[in-house]
Amino acid sequence: MAFDAESLARDILAGQRRALSRAITLVESTRPDHRILANALLERLTPHAGNSIRIGISGVPGAGKSTFIEAAGLHILKQGHRLAVLAVDPSSAISGGSILGDKTRMEELSRHREAFIRPSPAGKTLGGVTRRTRETMLLCEAAGFDVVIVETVGVGQSETAVADMTDMFLLLLLPGGGDDLQGIKRGIMELADLVLVNKADGEMAATANHSASDYIHALKLLHPRTRNWQVPVKTCSALEKRGIAEAWEIVCRYRQVLTESGELAQRRAQQAKSWMWNETAESLLAALRQDQRVAQLIPRLEQAVVAGSLPPTLAAAQLLEAFLHDDRLSD
Ligand code: GDP
Repeated sequence: MAFDAESLARDILAGQRRALSRAITLVESTRPDHRILANALLERLTPHAGNSIRIGISGVPGAGKSTFIEAAGLHILKQGHRLAVLAVDPSSAISGGSILGDKTRMEELSRHREAFIRPSPAGKTLGGVTRRTRETMLLCEAAGFDVVIVETVGVGQSETAVADMTDMFLLLLLPGGGDDLQGIKRGIMELADLVLVNKADGEMAATANHSASDYIHALKLLHPRTRNWQVPVKTCSALEKRGIAEAWEIVCRYRQVLTESGELAQRRAQQAKSWMWNETAESLLAALRQDQRVAQLIPRLEQAVVAGSLPPTLAAAQLLEAFLHDDRLSD
């Protein structure tokens, strides 16, 4: 497969799916030569990216995320949009397994020409997984997808990572268990721009309504994330496709309100800045670990720290000193 950044970029801008898939494979690769090409590609495409509404969706396993994304996705396509669905699965970083699942998800949506579904990249760290998802998001936007959904699971730090790369964060909850917020940490509730209580159908409809009012109260006690936005709490049934169009209307209203107030641009600017610093920190750490002098020091320092004979701060200072006095840097 010939990887030529110039022609790949051209094909992506022309909306060719195969080129997009190739480019994603490239940004997901850890091979240094692939990384160089990926960077060249991103440099060309970033000016053409950003023209989408980026929506993060989280919820515990079984909350109905894939059912919801399928129903909402089909509705979004009907409105004439092109939709990319990406995923951040923290379990792939921790256990090598997958919580979001390998089963065929969103079957109907995946058959659609105007939809592009990409599972979570594998990775050793959550930082690595989110970096690739961010880059994939830019590629999808350059390829003309104007709605991007990034899905994650409500079990770890991945919500913060996804909220940090999207314009709007949607929390999908189950009916019942309103008091303890279903074990969902307050911090995650604070990230939400829209709360949906799913499975509001059949016998669970009444419970769902109760839960929704519980969440409305809970939200009142929290610090608002966005100045001009009161977080709506609604019920829906992804299975019966009810409340889906209303949820999409809220997304559109949110986008309009925050665009007009300038908060959307502000949020993206902050995200870009913190992405740059995360990237710098990760690359610096990777370079440090690969440094030969540092590598020689690590076993001894680790041992001393574990034994309690050397304060960790001092050990860190020694590692840095070894790194910064590297000949390559002082040349
Ligand atoms: P995920 O793990 O969050 O992606 O959840 P899924 O979308 O796989 O849904 C988990 C289960 O809940 C499946 O059996 C779905 O059919 C079911 N489900 C999803 N949405 C609804 C809903 O609105 N109502 C009902 N009754 N069941 C639902």
